[in-house]
Amino acid sequence: MSWLFAFLILILILSYKPTSVVFFGFSLISFASIFTLLNEYNGISQLIWVAVLLYFFLFLPTPIRRLLITGPAYRLMKKALPPMSQTEREALEAGNTWWDAELFSGRPNWQVLEDLPAANLSDQEQAFLTGPVETLCAMLDDWDITHKRRDLPPKVWNYIKKQRFCGIIIPKQYGGLEFSEYAHSQIVMKISSRCATAAVTVMVPNSLGPAKLLLAYGTEQQKDYYLPKLASGKEMPCFALTGPDAGSDAGAMPDNGIVCKATFQGKDDVLGIRLNWEKRYITLGPVATVIGLAFKLYDPEQLLGNTEDIGITVALIPADTPGISIGQRHFPLDAAFQNGPNWGKDVFIPIDWVIGGVDQVGNGWKMLMQCLATGRSISLPALSVGASKFTCRNTGAYARIRKQFNIAIGEFEGIEEVLARMAGETYILDAARTITAAALDNGEKPSVISAIIKYELTERMRRIVNDGMDIQGGSGICLGPRNYLGRVYQAIPVSITVEGANILTRTMMIFGQGAVRCHPFIEQEMHLLQSQEPDAIKQFDRLLFSHIGHILGNVSTSLWLGLTGASFLSVPGDNNSRRYYRKIARFSAGFALLADYALLILGGSLKRKERISGLFADALSNLYLCSAVLKHYQDQNCPEDDLPLLHWACQHNLYLCQQALLALLTKLPFRPARWLLTLLLFPIGRTCSPPDDRLIHQTAAILLDHSPCRDRLTSGIYINNREDDATGRIEIAFDAVLKAAPVEVKIRRAQKQKLLAKGNPSHCCEAAVSQGIITAKETELMTQAELARTAAISVDHFDPKELTG
Ligand SMILES: Cc1cc2nc3c(=O)[nH]c(=O)nc-3n(C[C@H](O)[C@H](O)[C@H](O)COP(=O)(O)OP(=O)(O)OC[C@H]3O[C@@H](n4cnc5c(N)ncnc54)[C@H](O)[C@@H]3O)c2cc1C
Repeated sequence: MSWLFAFLILILILSYKPTSVVFFGFSLISFASIFTLLNEYNGISQLIWVAVLLYFFLFLPTPIRRLLITGPAYRLMKKALPPMSQTEREALEAGNTWWDAELFSGRPNWQVLEDLPAANLSDQEQAFLTGPVETLCAMLDDWDITHKRRDLPPKVWNYIKKQRFCGIIIPKQYGGLEFSEYAHSQIVMKISSRCATAAVTVMVPNSLGPAKLLLAYGTEQQKDYYLPKLASGKEMPCFALTGPDAGSDAGAMPDNGIVCKATFQGKDDVLGIRLNWEKRYITLGPVATVIGLAFKLYDPEQLLGNTEDIGITVALIPADTPGISIGQRHFPLDAAFQNGPNWGKDVFIPIDWVIGGVDQVGNGWKMLMQCLATGRSISLPALSVGASKFTCRNTGAYARIRKQFNIAIGEFEGIEEVLARMAGETYILDAARTITAAALDNGEKPSVISAIIKYELTERMRRIVNDGMDIQGGSGICLGPRNYLGRVYQAIPVSITVEGANILTRTMMIFGQGAVRCHPFIEQEMHLLQSQEPDAIKQFDRLLFSHIGHILGNVSTSLWLGLTGASFLSVPGDNNSRRYYRKIARFSAGFALLADYALLILGGSLKRKERISGLFADALSNLYLCSAVLKHYQDQNCPEDDLPLLHWACQHNLYLCQQALLALLTKLPFRPARWLLTLLLFPIGRTCSPPDDRLIHQTAAILLDHSPCRDRLTSGIYINNREDDATGRIEIAFDAVLKAAPVEVKIRRAQKQKLLAKGNPSHCCEAAVSQGIITAKETELMTQAELARTAAISVDHFDPKELTG
């Protein structure tokens, strides 16, 4: 029996590292021969020899194997392959894969992550942030914008246009700023920490919009005409895809265009398109001068070729073209950015208004998906991190300023837990935002990662802002110019819904696309299953058995790393971070194994098993976020005082990953298989726990005092020290309260020794001075702190007429 066990161990060892089929087979034969020589020929040796023969039969490509195994399997799988629409295929094929594919492989090559240069800003980008972006932020009065005007003031609109905020991504040759993706992200993040309305206004022309589409697909003539005007704000763009019957399933839009000839601007027989549409929720629509419109194109008279149903097409249409109704506004949850519906009735446009001209008709969906694959990685993540850093800085300070039961509320264990979560999550979000922007600047277009960070960053920002609201109590709820968090809270659902509503992104897109694009074999296998090539079975045969070898590899890797805690694995990092790299490697193997099992058992029906697919998304997302944290820590030169953040973030992400894998192990079909998989993934039980009390205390403390670590965590947002500004008052009070803290300690000590009466220390200053406990100068510090605290915690009240009028 021990020989049989040794034989199994040998198989596991051989499959742990990719080995050649011949070496693997040679090792098995050697083992079987030694066993037969040392023992008499018995049942166990028969079993071992059968296994060796089976191995050769399965893994050495032979015509018999193709005939008996691969051929029938190929035909069966071909039939079972779910049908895929053109729009689904184009969405799946958008972008590329990067670190996500490494995590999906079960054996991440850390060099891929290590090779990514750290994100950085050029001098010009830095100057823009400290110049025009700082000035713009100082000009913004969120209460005036959201409550009184419900729009940006004209001087802000003009400044945005004049400083070319709408041309961040447009090349200099067209008059744009031509900034990196990281700079783009920093700009949106900073503005969003001041005013969501302004951030959305700047964000839209630079994300999925006409400029991006023109740059990627426009004709030279279109680029020369439009890009300078878009960069300077002379043309204000919007992009119209969504309609009443086409939300998440935008490909189902009924909006249509018919190819025809008509008289246009005095010319007869102009080849063009007659359009009818109804769109809604379109950002910047009410002020747009040019509409990027997506519609389905038909050519019943076959004027363009011999296809009648051409497919989704995108055109750029001046908003004043006859037949267009535009200008009405929606009212998106008290945010004041421009958003509204538009309609087109029998609108005729010449064919060369199609982006990319006649060559690009029918390619609209592909164009949109390709641009979305990158756009989604920048704007909403930047917006989310801006809101999160803002909440950490201001609500963290509020927790230090605000006192209840005679102590700062931040010192209560309950609040500490929430503060630690806010700080730790913000560190994660910033790491993911920065690393992803750096990847984009390095030429990557990772569509699965773009879905992960859109979903995770907006979702986690929701939690951070909710936490902030809980800490703020009534001061977060009563709206007015003094309330800095209420409007941020109100705007949360906007980012959750746009660019792929979150439930759909989590449960359908991340794993749905990941399973095809990031898996080392599935995409090629699907391609061969759809192929009509004569030697498709031969190619499929090789691929299928490499895939089986890959699964075996993940079985042994998962078990080995689970048993040893991956202690013998060589990984990057330092003494503080190495353990997390190892855990990622371990969970990556487990994730890959479970993914293959789910794909094998559920096949195409996995598409509808959204609860399972959502858990896979959670596991993959947490692996990505955790690796981003490690890379971010390293890129920042491993600052020692960031260690609580590093530990909190990694422990939290890995715990969530573990819980997602465990949940999958209860949901996947077939109990015996689940038991076996649990043994392979968690041979010594679960090993990850959420951050403990000591770590929570250390992490929360970062938000309650001045430190380089707090400044790094909240860097890049707009900060001011103005007494007439809500967040300025918080900064002033935080500083004053911290300066007075040592004086307060002296008074409290005296109170404990019964030298002073109990109660609010600031009320005992006079007695404390007369007893020589504090000096007159120190009393001054206490008075200033008290005044600043009172100003910072006060809330607005209105004349009733002001609210009802
Ligand atoms: C403020 C704002 C600005 C916008 N700006 C623009 C713009 O500039 N241009 C533009 O074209 N569009 C824009 N949109 C539209 C936005 O992209 C859509 O709102 C989004 O695609 C969702 O569509 P819907 O609101 O119709 O929701 P629905 O599609 O009706 O979805 C409702 C819910 O069902 C879920 N759901 C749908 N299908 C699935 C599924 N298969 N599995 C699981 N869950 C599913 C969704 O996640 C969502 O939670 C904007 C929307 C808003 C609110």
